[in-house]
Amino acid sequence: MAEPLFHHTLAVRQERCKGCTHCMKRCPTGAIRIEGGHARIDGERCIDCGQCMSVCPHNAMVVEQSTFDQLLTYTWRVAVVPAVLFAQFDDQVTERQVCRALMECGFTHLYLSETGVDILQVLGAKNKDHETPLISDFCPAAVRLIQLRYPVLLQNLSLLRTPAQMTAIMARVELEAEGCLPEETGIFYITPCAAKIAQIKTVGSTDHAIFQGVLNLDSVYNMIQSFLAKNKKLQEQDGGGAWFHFPVFTKTAVQWSLVKGECPMKGERSLAVDEMHNVIEFLEELENEEEVNLDFLELDACAQGCAGGILTVRNRFLATERVRHWSNSLPEQLPEELRIRILSYKDILLPQLYTERAKPKSALKLDKDMGKALHKLEKVREIVKVLPGIDCGLCGAPTCKALAEDIAKSNASMRQCVVLKLKNPKELNSLLRIWGERTQTPKN
Ligand code: SF4
Ligand code: SF4
Repeated sequence: MAEPLFHHTLAVRQERCKGCTHCMKRCPTGAIRIEGGHARIDGERCIDCGQCMSVCPHNAMVVEQSTFDQLLTYTWRVAVVPAVLFAQFDDQVTERQVCRALMECGFTHLYLSETGVDILQVLGAKNKDHETPLISDFCPAAVRLIQLRYPVLLQNLSLLRTPAQMTAIMARVELEAEGCLPEETGIFYITPCAAKIAQIKTVGSTDHAIFQGVLNLDSVYNMIQSFLAKNKKLQEQDGGGAWFHFPVFTKTAVQWSLVKGECPMKGERSLAVDEMHNVIEFLEELENEEEVNLDFLELDACAQGCAGGILTVRNRFLATERVRHWSNSLPEQLPEELRIRILSYKDILLPQLYTERAKPKSALKLDKDMGKALHKLEKVREIVKVLPGIDCGLCGAPTCKALAEDIAKSNASMRQCVVLKLKNPKELNSLLRIWGERTQTPKN
């Protein structure tokens, strides 16, 4: 089956964009160009990591917004809530109050996203068919990066479903057993990152098949804050009543989305790398290195993992501390009655443990036709030799090599190189002739 086309969630607000190049310099996949004084995102290269948005000094990048209206189209509205949502609040707001506010705001059932860790553990789920080291598929931006830039490492990716997916499957199974009709049940993930929105909205993806919608964590946070502000008594009474449908989870599960959260369960030689540029540096190493003594590699596109997602609102270190503090009050093992509850659905859950292997994306190829691609590659090499090699970004491409590739693909012109233009306009015209572009007579 063909890999579905990526849905993208980030856009540039042209009226705010100053063409300052901060985003272009930050983008890990070279997906941004500055054209006509404004940033443009190339959808073929974008992995929705949100790095561009996090550095824009003019608030010109926007992420697709959630619509809460979709919730109301379902009778049974399930929220799959990540632990980091609770960590956005200070200690005055308890987990129970957050749950209560979510219920009052329209959900009928709440599941902690990380419950899936316990479900997988109780079911004895093991990874299969992978190269070593096993690479986690938990972070969707990291998976997209591998699809785009390191396809050889796709064989290392975990095929086990993510905890959030497993939780959503369990929620659907349980609600159905309680008599809720599948077509009347909507399962919504509350996401701390743009990549998860992109994944859930990518038609044909595994997440799209499991979740009926996705809500941005910052929007949900604002909704809870305004509810709590209007209901001061609820704050004082600690909510009362509203809590998770699956009532207990383990310490390991709650820490799962933090950096090194997955490592304790994945073998002796495990490593966690966070922040996209560190991830790229490490994957380059892994691609070239013959032998690394690692069993498992956890990759988090955001610094501090999900606690640093671009849709979070609180300082990522404080958020991490709160998740850890919460997890310390939780049991190491799931209570027996909950193990039995999971195992009672094992015939339905066990056949759903694995996903299909992600396929490579060919956006970085110069041409679909191999012969033409090789010809263009040669052209890129020649063009790079005459460009200044200082990666100044003034041409609107992030590096001289990126400009050379754009020229080879006829998406840019040598004229964009400001340095060449200033140094020697006559030489520039002769280069334009060599590369088959129309020349301009230099003005005296
Ligand atoms: S960082 Fe990018 S989107 Fe923001 S103003 Fe600069 S060029 Fe425009
Ligand atoms: S979301 Fe990431 S990959 Fe896409 S343009 Fe922004 S920085 Fe580049």
